[in-house]
Amino acid sequence: MAAPLLCGAALVVGYVMLVVLTIPQLPAWAQPAVYQWLFDIPQDAEISDNGSGDDSTPAGPSAVPWDGYSGPEAGIHGLPLVGPIQHWGTWYDKPLLGCLFHDPNYQTHTGSDFPVDEGTPVHTTMGGKVVWAAENGPWGNLVVVENNGYQVWLAHLSSIQVSEGQILNDGDVVGLSGNTGNSTGAHLHYGIKQKTAEDTYVWLNPQLFFAEDEYINIGCSS
Ligand SMILES: [Zn+2]
Repeated sequence: MAAPLLCGAALVVGYVMLVVLTIPQLPAWAQPAVYQWLFDIPQDAEISDNGSGDDSTPAGPSAVPWDGYSGPEAGIHGLPLVGPIQHWGTWYDKPLLGCLFHDPNYQTHTGSDFPVDEGTPVHTTMGGKVVWAAENGPWGNLVVVENNGYQVWLAHLSSIQVSEGQILNDGDVVGLSGNTGNSTGAHLHYGIKQKTAEDTYVWLNPQLFFAEDEYINIGCSS
């Protein structure tokens, strides 16, 4: 009885030692991904705040300037993903909601995270003008759509399929989901920003724009 148990324990200890000794030798950018792979821990969120600053602060270095565009289809509707979607290879009818806006486990979080496999089409939830469609530091590949004092932010994309200046209809695909920028696993970060004065803004809780039966809440794993 004791021998198999001891063997099992020795294997576990050996594995943990291997992981602990190996990961610090890797370059910093590779460590989170390898840690996740070796322990198979889903961490589909950002490591920390996206560098966006908190509510009502002046624009920071990674900020996207306001364009001032106003046009038709200014309302924000629905979700940026359309089910069924895949997450870690399993299909789900509806998008999965992970870390929430100001999540108890991630209080500086300025949007809603949707864990989803790379390559899933991402939709704008508002018609408007594309005011950013490029890499942007911690946000990775980022698309921002603006209309009438609101911006919809879609971050960590694997590819971008729109260009700056383009006018989109509500629901148009802006790119494919990914794991770029400050992200520890494939997911979509979705934020809604409202301009409040010349140099200030507030992040709104995107969940207030969803119906409860539109998503599956799986909680924040970061
Ligand atoms: Zn996020």
